[in-house]
Amino acid sequence: MYQHHWVGTEQEKLPVGKIVCVGRNYVEHAQELNNPIPCEPLIFMKPSTCYQHFEGRIELDRSLGEHHYEAELALLVGEQIDKHHLQPLSAIKGIGLALDLTLRDEQTKLKNQGHPWERAKAYDGSCPITPFTAVSAVAELENLEFQFWQNDQLVQYGQTNLMIFSFEKLVKSITQFCTLLPGDVILTGTPKGVGKLEDNAYLSLQLNDAPKFDAHLTLR
Ligand code: ZN
Repeated sequence: MYQHHWVGTEQEKLPVGKIVCVGRNYVEHAQELNNPIPCEPLIFMKPSTCYQHFEGRIELDRSLGEHHYEAELALLVGEQIDKHHLQPLSAIKGIGLALDLTLRDEQTKLKNQGHPWERAKAYDGSCPITPFTAVSAVAELENLEFQFWQNDQLVQYGQTNLMIFSFEKLVKSITQFCTLLPGDVILTGTPKGVGKLEDNAYLSLQLNDAPKFDAHLTLR
């Protein structure tokens, strides 16, 4: 069973909540998929059955089709945030990294039909996620960078100052219509470089210059 983990000393134990995802938050990623630059954040969700630990081994169902990676900064919500919260970022307690896995062919088909994306985005195991670093342990919450490698090849690099919408704007925009609860996670969008996951791949994620998180992918 998935539980949120922490890097280093164990912090507060939080429930496993919903995953609120942001699409097209980096200009060059919107362009690589021929999508327009949004004027407000594009929001979708993954249920809690999508989580799996990005630690040790990751397993995905090969019968679903090609799984594509989108590496993203993940914010762990520590207390309830609604639209009346005056300091919404103070309620973010952890920073992690996640893969917003996507069945890209299925998503393209659904998009073209004007249908919702759940079949392409909300399947079991579609959110491998690292342990969280306490926000108190990072120098600046809004000044972070991250990298993602597949088989020792650097495929994605992102940093908060390349984002179209800052963390604060994202949280304010989400909570206009949806209350965030302790244990919820926000995936803040992917930079350019998305692509297909290879069977048997060795995957690594790194936040700033902290030690990398490693995982080995098996398609079953
Ligand atoms: Zn994404």
